[in-house]
Amino acid sequence: MALLTKAPRGTQDILPAKIAPWQAMERELIATAQRFGFQEIRTPTFEHTELFNRSVGDTTDVVQKEMYTFQDKGDRSITLRPEGTAGAARAVIEHGLLAEALPVKVSYLLSCFRYEKPQAGRLREFHQFGAEMYGSASPAADADLIALASQALENIGIREVSLEINSIGCPHCRPVYLQALREYFGARQDQLCPTCRERLGKNPLRILDCKNPDCAAIAAGAPLVLDHLCGDCREHFDGLKARLDAMGIPYTVNPRIVRGLDYYTRTVFEFVSSGIGAQGTVCGGGRYDGLIQELGGPQTPALGFAMGLERLLLVLEAQGNPPAQGERCDLYVAPMGENASVRAFQLVNLLRAEGYYGETDLMGRSLRAQMKYADKLGCRFSLVLGDNELETGEARLKDMETGESLPIPLGEGFLEEFDRRMAARAYAQLEQSIQEELAGE
Ligand code: ATP
Ligand code: MG
Repeated sequence: MALLTKAPRGTQDILPAKIAPWQAMERELIATAQRFGFQEIRTPTFEHTELFNRSVGDTTDVVQKEMYTFQDKGDRSITLRPEGTAGAARAVIEHGLLAEALPVKVSYLLSCFRYEKPQAGRLREFHQFGAEMYGSASPAADADLIALASQALENIGIREVSLEINSIGCPHCRPVYLQALREYFGARQDQLCPTCRERLGKNPLRILDCKNPDCAAIAAGAPLVLDHLCGDCREHFDGLKARLDAMGIPYTVNPRIVRGLDYYTRTVFEFVSSGIGAQGTVCGGGRYDGLIQELGGPQTPALGFAMGLERLLLVLEAQGNPPAQGERCDLYVAPMGENASVRAFQLVNLLRAEGYYGETDLMGRSLRAQMKYADKLGCRFSLVLGDNELETGEARLKDMETGESLPIPLGEGFLEEFDRRMAARAYAQLEQSIQEELAGE
């Protein structure tokens, strides 16, 4: 029975009391993406398993261990998306977007599924904001994308995050580097974990990413990819750095970042926060010039990033940012009796249609209990409706903070008077905050 009242391991409910920071963050992310020309794309929650095998890559942890894969009733192998890049790439190929004006820029907010060991900042269902760009091979595109990630993080209030960049070369120079890695790790095989021993043949780059401390210690002395770049890749990397410098986006070159997914070429980057422990990578991305063709599309250079929203919220919390607040109720109408209740509905819905947040009694509470409830909602104004008010057609609109109460007509002129009081209240608050700022100087 406990199964009925307990969410599956690694998932979490986002309850109404905690939704405001999510909504604020999501709004800001989408708005920032729009200013960079990235339009939102929405793709299915599940795809054919083959898509992820191909695009994420057979040798990655994601494909080898973490995917939620099942046969559907039509006997297809289906997988809940572990990330957003593959679905977006599939969609732009399927719908021919790459034949239109390039570059194509898309962004998304979605939930992802990975069968991992749950811990702080690591869930089985988590959320990502991501952006992808198709069609430009220029380092200007890399700079554009990194600038978006950087501004997005800043706009949602993330401080003290460091950008680390690297280039992992292209199909021309990578084989030489992989050979150097094979030789280096091959000579130290017996000290590697079993998974890495397997990676040695298939994809030695992965070993650099292994979280096993023994492997990490050996990897620390491995040959550096930056020493093996071809002229074109070096020039590309320099072009990116020049633009980041020009925009004043600080970064460090970290030759150890290779990223967990198979499809990356040239630029790879991570934004890392120091404040939340081991799961400090809040954003990861890079260029994947071979992927679109690998999936059956036209040869198209591409790049993208994804950030984990749960981790971003952990960082905001660790920074001590006050959590974003939800909407406050503008008016609570407290009726006494049946007739008043009917009239209260009329008034409250009038306000709602005007864009205000209005509330009235649905519980048959006493007046006292209603006022307590209105306080709890943090209502700006309240209004008591009794027989007397219904008879005279006039009530008193009470400011819940100052206690000040002024007459308001219930019929004609109700909305106008309420607008006026809201405006006056906003003005008074603005004036007060200016006074406070002046006093503080
Ligand atoms: P990690 O090294 O932490 O496992 P990753 O390389 O697997 O990360 P990506 O596939 O690049 O991560 O996903 C992009 C971002 O999504 C990560 O930087 C992280 O913020 C977030 N993320 C990845 N896996 C999880 C998870 N299981 N739970 C919560 N967030 C996650
Ligand atoms: Mg991972």
